[in-house]
Amino acid sequence: MNPYGKHRNNGDSGSDIMANQEICDLANREHFDLSKWNDPIAWQGLLDGSTCPICIRKQPLDAIATLEASWVTMQEDAPVRGYVCLVSQTHAVELHDLLEETALAFMRDVQRVSKVIASVTGAVKLNYEIHGNSIPHLHMHFFPRYVRDQFGGLPIDPRAVIQPVYAPGEFEGIQDAVVAALAQDDRHAFFRHYGYLGGLRDWRPFASELGHIRMILLTIWDPVGILGADGAMDEYDSYAEAVLELIHGGADVDQVENHLVNIENELMGGCKKPVVTRFAAQRIVLAYKFSQQMKEADLPSLSEENS
Ligand SMILES: [Zn+2]
Repeated sequence: MNPYGKHRNNGDSGSDIMANQEICDLANREHFDLSKWNDPIAWQGLLDGSTCPICIRKQPLDAIATLEASWVTMQEDAPVRGYVCLVSQTHAVELHDLLEETALAFMRDVQRVSKVIASVTGAVKLNYEIHGNSIPHLHMHFFPRYVRDQFGGLPIDPRAVIQPVYAPGEFEGIQDAVVAALAQDDRHAFFRHYGYLGGLRDWRPFASELGHIRMILLTIWDPVGILGADGAMDEYDSYAEAVLELIHGGADVDQVENHLVNIENELMGGCKKPVVTRFAAQRIVLAYKFSQQMKEADLPSLSEENS
């Protein structure tokens, strides 16, 4: 499912032109002569973020997941099968503009995405590119390479790509697999979070089901942005309990997603980031499955695993 669909915007107003140059098209456009610095005034607005289309929208198009310091974006209209663009949540022009801590978080995201794409696509090699000539808001392109692909030993040339790169229905499958693999990888990230959040180390198997859900609601869903706010860490606890009840009742991803969307619609003035809500729902269901597997395997408690 791609709730944002394709973004081949052919409008000709100023904002449409900006939208047309969004991340979703960057891979195809970076290699064209679209260097915005030839217009110093327009370039300055893009550099300082005041006219940056990503910052104006508050997130890129086609975001399928939110990681520590970045958004993962994928689109069917891609230069190669399994293509992903990772977009920094911080407006930064160059890598050295990021604070060291943010840069490290961005690189952790890069590694996670790299691992996931390699596994989902079966690529023989990954190519990584950072340009920002059209939109100087830090983003990294991931191009999976395949045995006997169109470009042999050369870089991908988006202008020469024979479209479509996906067979009918294939994109949705790969996109879902990427999200699922990211969610699975998150289990370990959650364990690292336990120390940071404190007081949550002693969950035992039953409690850990609720704990996982709390963690996902806080770190992924977080529709009102309370993660890290003092005294607000229990903000979603009542929601977590309701979600756990749903899960115990056999709810699937769609049902959990609908439940979260209803909360957002009724209490928070609408669902602002549907893909994030769906991603959170997917993680909740996966976390529950892991929890069940841990119980069945009689694995050590979470705190022991974390030590
Ligand atoms: Zn920006």
